[in-house]
Amino acid sequence: MLDKKNFFINGQWVKPNSSEEIKVIDPATEENCAVITLGNKSDVDLAVNAAKDAYESWAFSSKQERIGLLEKLYENYKKRWADIAEAITLEMGAPKDFATKLQAGTGASHIKSFIRYLKNFEFEKPLGEHAPNQRLIYEPKGVCALITPWNWPMNQVCLKVMPAIASGCTMVLKPSELAPLSSMILAEIIDEIKFPKGVFNLVNGDGATTGDALTSHPDINMISFTGSTRAGALISQNAAKDFKRVSLELGGKGANIIFKDADPEAIERGALRCFRNSGQSCNAPTRMLVEKSMYNEAVERLKKYTESFEVGDPKKEGEHIGPVISETQYNKIQTLIQKGIDEGAKLVAGGTGKPDGLDKGYFVKPTVFANVNNNMEVARTEIFGPVLSVIPFETEEDAIKIANDTTYGLTNYIQTQDSEKVQRVARRLRSGMVDVNGAGIAVDAPFGGFKHSGIGREAGEHGLEEFLEVKAVGGWSN
Ligand code: NAD
Repeated sequence: MLDKKNFFINGQWVKPNSSEEIKVIDPATEENCAVITLGNKSDVDLAVNAAKDAYESWAFSSKQERIGLLEKLYENYKKRWADIAEAITLEMGAPKDFATKLQAGTGASHIKSFIRYLKNFEFEKPLGEHAPNQRLIYEPKGVCALITPWNWPMNQVCLKVMPAIASGCTMVLKPSELAPLSSMILAEIIDEIKFPKGVFNLVNGDGATTGDALTSHPDINMISFTGSTRAGALISQNAAKDFKRVSLELGGKGANIIFKDADPEAIERGALRCFRNSGQSCNAPTRMLVEKSMYNEAVERLKKYTESFEVGDPKKEGEHIGPVISETQYNKIQTLIQKGIDEGAKLVAGGTGKPDGLDKGYFVKPTVFANVNNNMEVARTEIFGPVLSVIPFETEEDAIKIANDTTYGLTNYIQTQDSEKVQRVARRLRSGMVDVNGAGIAVDAPFGGFKHSGIGREAGEHGLEEFLEVKAVGGWSN
């Protein structure tokens, strides 16, 4: 079992004040694979104080210095890429190839992308040609609490740590207690390249103790959080007391609208996007809305596709999916699958219980429900497992109505060859992102949601601006 009990505070690995431990469980074997410390209030105080002290000079560091450090970080991240992917497989069960290409890969893409945006970003500029003496100055928001979940660990950590560094903020990262190992490698990289001490700090722990101490700390100026809508609401309450800036990336219940003129791969591609990462993606298209005239054919194809979909050992190479993160999550998914059956949805593939031959580990059968109506719980709750609900629709107007009839608004999907229809529907979907015909959303496009899916945007230039306050100075002279 890996001993990962120390925290990274003020430029060094330190023994925590707390002696309470958390076991990290390998979801593929249900065995303890590492031990971390559950940080208490005094550990959080130390980390926040270090970040606060460092802010005094880091906030005024030059753009060139930050670019130089991020470039070194990118080089060292590439050297540790395989270690990061291996840690992700161990901590959250993403299969080897997926962990390498996508999980660790997106982390690298974000580092590279933020370097590019930092190079081009103007931290000081005139309001406009009409007002040359009115100056806009973009300044770092201050000391940031960065709190991340387990489902895309490095992606989410890099979406926060890199723009915080690039903008001149200092930070305390609290990664998910379920998947902290990849973040600790990132802290090792930051240690290796000798960042100014206190700029980046890492404490481990759970939400109720460590997360709460961090988000209620009076010296935290900004909270960037990704996770459940439940925790997002609690964090916002903490933030409101002293007007901390908040950026929230929360859940989703994306609709994938399949019109009858969709391309031939749209159905299977939609199921794959739902099942990928064992369904543990906030932007997964978990409601497939299918035009009535092709509904029966779609359900048949989904049955065939899902029954041949492989679930297996994440340490193995291949395109299969691994387990879900934890016993709690496994049980929640089982309850929701049973709820779908009880509510009268038609079970087309999968169902409750573990896939054949996988008795140990939190493995879930990829599951498809047909004849779902949008009021059923499987269509309303974010299941966060490989469970697809298929809903028929009659008209374009119907499809838009069903897609928007959810508390969430993160990503919706459209499948049609009719470009005018694409534009009409895309404009009316109430979500932060719309993915058409499998094109994907660029790594540096603004990522975030409407409604209960969150506040603010991550990635690219929008993601950098989240960490900046704008100041207006009138009467500036050159
Ligand atoms: P979670 O909210 O339980 O935990 C996320 C993080 O928040 C963890 O680090 C946890 O320790 C911390 N936390 C929990 N309660 C807290 C509190 N009261 N105060 C401070 N910190 C607290 O979520 P999870 O189960 O780890 O992650 C899954 C959820 O994240 C899903 O709902 C998913 O949709 C969402 N998610 C959203 C996005 C997005 O970008 N919109 C991305 C990934 C995941």
